[in-house]
Amino acid sequence: MNRNILSHYTLLCPGPVNVSSRVADAYSRSALSHREINFTRLLREVQRDILNVAGVNKSDDYSALLITGSGTAANEAVLASAVAPDKSVIALSNGEFGERLTEISQIYNRTIIVRSEWGEELDLGRLEEHLAEGGSDLVSMVHHETSTGLLNPVQEVGRLCKRYGVSLLVDGVSSFSADLISVEEEEITFLTTSSGKAIGSYPGLSFVIGKHKSFTRIADYPVRNHYLNLNRYYNFSKKCGQTPNTPAISLFASLHAALQDILTEGLEPRYQRLSTLAAYMRRQLADRNLYFQGVQPQSVVLTNVLLPEAMSFVDLQNYLRQLGFVIYDAKGPLRGRYFQVSTIGNISVADIDRFLTALDSCLSAKQFPQPKPLSIKVS
Ligand SMILES: *Cc1c(COP(=O)(O)O)cnc(C)c1O
Repeated sequence: MNRNILSHYTLLCPGPVNVSSRVADAYSRSALSHREINFTRLLREVQRDILNVAGVNKSDDYSALLITGSGTAANEAVLASAVAPDKSVIALSNGEFGERLTEISQIYNRTIIVRSEWGEELDLGRLEEHLAEGGSDLVSMVHHETSTGLLNPVQEVGRLCKRYGVSLLVDGVSSFSADLISVEEEEITFLTTSSGKAIGSYPGLSFVIGKHKSFTRIADYPVRNHYLNLNRYYNFSKKCGQTPNTPAISLFASLHAALQDILTEGLEPRYQRLSTLAAYMRRQLADRNLYFQGVQPQSVVLTNVLLPEAMSFVDLQNYLRQLGFVIYDAKGPLRGRYFQVSTIGNISVADIDRFLTALDSCLSAKQFPQPKPLSIKVS
């Protein structure tokens, strides 16, 4: 059976995700110019809805800036725009995406790295030592470390940053609108995320959420690049309700629909639904003796599953792709031993059941021996 490149796949990766028909329809109903009033209205509604999803009550104090580009664009915009030239960044890292923040920061800033092993907790003791030394302007961290599934303690880091008067950048690219997070309560200065993961729209837009005063504070910092200069985005948004350059307008229309769906469902019920889906997937995998990595606390977005013995990731991936399912390889030190499944986007229990049937057929196919029973830790 050969599938066309544009066949429908069930995406069980942590982004891109399958979108709802409302999100898909909105894309094709977006013939508008970004210099017209209806785009400004669309932008304002999207900004308002993002702040709602971010748990902002005092919405007059906050702004959400939209950048055409994937999640990395928002991270780079902050790291290139929000650090004083004579000060440093303290970069927290315990996985692939913490490392990426570190790497981006090093292009623009003097960067102190506080690194832990992948999947291990962040070293807040060392963070505090560095904060106490002075000379830093911003701490960077990942909320849901998408390489391991671990949720990092944003609130604790937020309190430390507040105590030392240092800004906090939180990369919420894979967790935003799934795992609960509140920009206000957790003392986050800049929260970044993107359209194409848990939000459930197409990839290609990223956002930086922060207080007006956090954006105005950095207005006089030296310009280090043109396209990702946060100050330009802030000024265009505030003064004329536009973006500095031609945005991916159709993606705004889809994002608008996805945000409306999230707010209609409600953040708590949505979190409960996503938790239930993740727990269902994990329980079903455990029933098949497929041990999954039980990091604590674990995101509802992602599960790393141990590969059955003698099965290569590429064989499993190819087999499942033929049946219409996309899974991801694990990253870094987990590569070759685990594969990743995710249950965000427009995914139902029925989709998970179809996936499990495909997985069962793969496990019982002659070329793959049944996995040996393992002691299973279901968290
Ligand atoms: C996916 C991801 C990114 C990178 O996002 P892109 O959209 O691929 O640029 C950054 N951080 C985290 C935590 C992610 O999961």
